[in-house]
Amino acid sequence: MSVSQQTAQSQTTLERVRRGEIRHDWTAEEARALFELPFNELIFAAQTVHRQYFDPNEVQVSTLLSIKTGGCPEDCAYCPQSARYDTGLEKEKLMDVNFVVAQAKAAKAKGATRFCMGAAYRSPTDKHLDRITDMISQVRALGMETCATLGMVNREQAEKMADAGLDYYNHNIDTAEDFYGDIITTRTFDDRMDTLENVRQAGLNVCCGGIVGMGEETGHRADMLRALANLPQHPGSVPINQLVQVPGTPLYGQEEVHPVEFVRTIAAARLMMPASHVRLSAGRTDMNDETQALCFLAGANSIFYGDKLLTTDNPEADADQQLFQRLGLRPEAVGRVEERRECGRGKREDAAAEAAAQADQAEPHVRAD
Ligand code: SF4
Repeated sequence: MSVSQQTAQSQTTLERVRRGEIRHDWTAEEARALFELPFNELIFAAQTVHRQYFDPNEVQVSTLLSIKTGGCPEDCAYCPQSARYDTGLEKEKLMDVNFVVAQAKAAKAKGATRFCMGAAYRSPTDKHLDRITDMISQVRALGMETCATLGMVNREQAEKMADAGLDYYNHNIDTAEDFYGDIITTRTFDDRMDTLENVRQAGLNVCCGGIVGMGEETGHRADMLRALANLPQHPGSVPINQLVQVPGTPLYGQEEVHPVEFVRTIAAARLMMPASHVRLSAGRTDMNDETQALCFLAGANSIFYGDKLLTTDNPEADADQQLFQRLGLRPEAVGRVEERRECGRGKREDAAAEAAAQADQAEPHVRAD
């Protein structure tokens, strides 16, 4: 495409995105055109759309606890929890339920409204899942939203978690399909999509995003967001992580992404998934207040709060409070969890009824008489 054609494509895309439509038909050219816009145009459009769906001064606050650390058989090139890399990380068994609930209470006291439980698995065993569902129901009983990230799950496992009161399941696609094999070889992009579908069918809200700064090109970032935006439903939460480089992992020493490019990715995520919470996720430790402020201006409206993000550092909770004060931000109240859950159950019942009706049509009843 010539430069003038690219500019025209960007302008057309800009006019369309400013309307804030929820779309699932993004083309590769449209997604890439957003990244070509002049920075000021992009940020203004993102902030305009953000205000159509959210209070611009509210930020949803989540806390993440690693309930089972390290020893993972997968080979994600960014991850210190992979058993394949020597990162000095201490492996820890699945935590006790009471300990996790006590951590959730402490997080709630500090203002967190969502409690995310992360475990380093390819897939959880059924025995571990029983303990985790106990954690989910007890944390849910505290009045917090619950989220889990446990690797690949089948439909039955997803339904078990939904029945225990899980609100969100996190399963990131990490990067673009074309770049996926450069980062992970022990599973495929399609495996990721299968779990997302199982989770969606179980009526759970999906939390799904990716990582920036792994050596991908701008086009890969656009393709990753396009894959998310073209899902049957946009993820309720879209975490955008900046790679945290950990010595011992293959991506250690990778050239860092420029903050402006990171902010562009946040803005494009806001424009492509206007009603989703876009989470400024891992990598905040390496960002100054100005970059974080730009991210909020570009439409980020969710953060992780607390001093650990699974196994990498996160800004101190007090530093976050100061940043909120400086920017006049306030934490978003707990969402309409019950309503969402009922809606999730309803979706599952509708899907089951639809499947039964189709089976009825396919196999005529054999009459007893
Ligand atoms: S990102 Fe998850 S699946 Fe990949 S190695 Fe780390 S814990 Fe395992």
